[in-house]
Amino acid sequence: MTAHNKIRVRFAPSPTGYLHIGNARTAFFNWLFARQQNGQFILRIEDTDTKRSTKAFEQSLLEDLKWLGLDWDEGPDNKGHFGPYRQSERFDLYKDYADRLIAQGRAYPCYCTHERLEEVRQRQIKAGWPPKYDGRCRMLSKDDRPKHIKPVLRFQVSENAVVFEDKIHKKLSFDGAVFGDFIIVGSDDIATYNFAVVIDDALMGITNVIRGEDHLSNTPRQILIFKALGFPVPEYAHMSLIFGPDKTPLSKRHGAASINDLRESGFLPEAVVNHLCHLGFSPGKELLSIDETIQSFSLQRLSRSPAIFDIERLKTFNRAYIEKADTERLLNLVEPYCAEGVSREWLRIAVEAVKGEATNLKEIPDILLPFLKQPVLEKEAKQILDEPSAREILLILAEKIEREADLTADTYTRIITAIKQKTGASGRRLLMPIRVALTGKMKGLELEKVFVLLGKKEVVARAKKHLQGV
Ligand code: GLU
Repeated sequence: MTAHNKIRVRFAPSPTGYLHIGNARTAFFNWLFARQQNGQFILRIEDTDTKRSTKAFEQSLLEDLKWLGLDWDEGPDNKGHFGPYRQSERFDLYKDYADRLIAQGRAYPCYCTHERLEEVRQRQIKAGWPPKYDGRCRMLSKDDRPKHIKPVLRFQVSENAVVFEDKIHKKLSFDGAVFGDFIIVGSDDIATYNFAVVIDDALMGITNVIRGEDHLSNTPRQILIFKALGFPVPEYAHMSLIFGPDKTPLSKRHGAASINDLRESGFLPEAVVNHLCHLGFSPGKELLSIDETIQSFSLQRLSRSPAIFDIERLKTFNRAYIEKADTERLLNLVEPYCAEGVSREWLRIAVEAVKGEATNLKEIPDILLPFLKQPVLEKEAKQILDEPSAREILLILAEKIEREADLTADTYTRIITAIKQKTGASGRRLLMPIRVALTGKMKGLELEKVFVLLGKKEVVARAKKHLQGV
């Protein structure tokens, strides 16, 4: 492939909020496509809404993308030959192309007031027509232009239909008569989204636009501008919307917080990315490595029906990735949540022992709590210890362990077998009193791991404490 026909895609967020699931999926699928096609992934900041855009949101978008592992080849923070990569730094370019459209007779200033536009709209609605600008200022001569009103600039739509081939939706056709002459530059001289996006996509050499279906109605307008300026039209792929499991549009109530929230609540990036990959795409496998995802990705195979984001599914993925994760890495992630005074050595053994149990990084310190603090008995747990056989079991346990040099997985098996033989107790009746005395809880880590994590001294102390209490 020559540099000339290289795939170039972009992610173009507006820095007016945190990166959410929908946008993250858009970024991810563009990135996947670029990496698979040996193309380029460009990050462009669409900050023309000067009131709502902030540098802090821009920074957080960049950080979230990095956290997800999505690197970009060109963007506001690194070099690229097609910059600047912030729309707020490209106003001169938009002005230049707006002037060209005026010179070509494809754009004209419009002085219609808000009140007039509203009146026209109401009239059209009453008549049962789709509301659109009626084109009044198209014919306005230079002399008739009001001096005291700052005009907007409208693009003149003369085409009857806009037809294009979408990679996901296949052939789409839009009736040109429906949308009317639309605004490309506001009265504040700021280019509208539909205009700026075309100039940027064209000048940045974007070959494929992959974005959400919510932009589908913008696409015909954008195509008209591409064509009017003689730019090649990119290929489009509009991805289905994302719903919650209850089939309503995704919102906070589905647990679909921002990427930042997911990170803070203890999800691993690879689990989040794995769920993103299943949003509208069926990779044919539950858990994928990033290389497998890159290989299996296909725009043509993206679904047209809504994608479902399910926080429970994400938790299942997270559990699997935590279990797979390198202990040293988990240790660094978990350490800040743990109480001071815990040795790193002990924590390493503990994290290794519990990493298959947690659905979330934050749960790891919770699971470790019984080892760090004296257990507090749950109500049911108390009843277990009240049983006469419990006392006998704990007594033998303490005696046997005191005779051991150390506690290992082997000693555990040996001691449990001995208690079983001596008391005749087995299964739950044998193990539950021990679990409860050592951890205060009815459920938790395998007992064998509990033994090792607590160590000889603490197991004996906890068993004896209950013997005295009974
Ligand atoms: N700034 C737009 C958005 O965040 C970009 C849309 C597009 O990809 O064209 O929705």
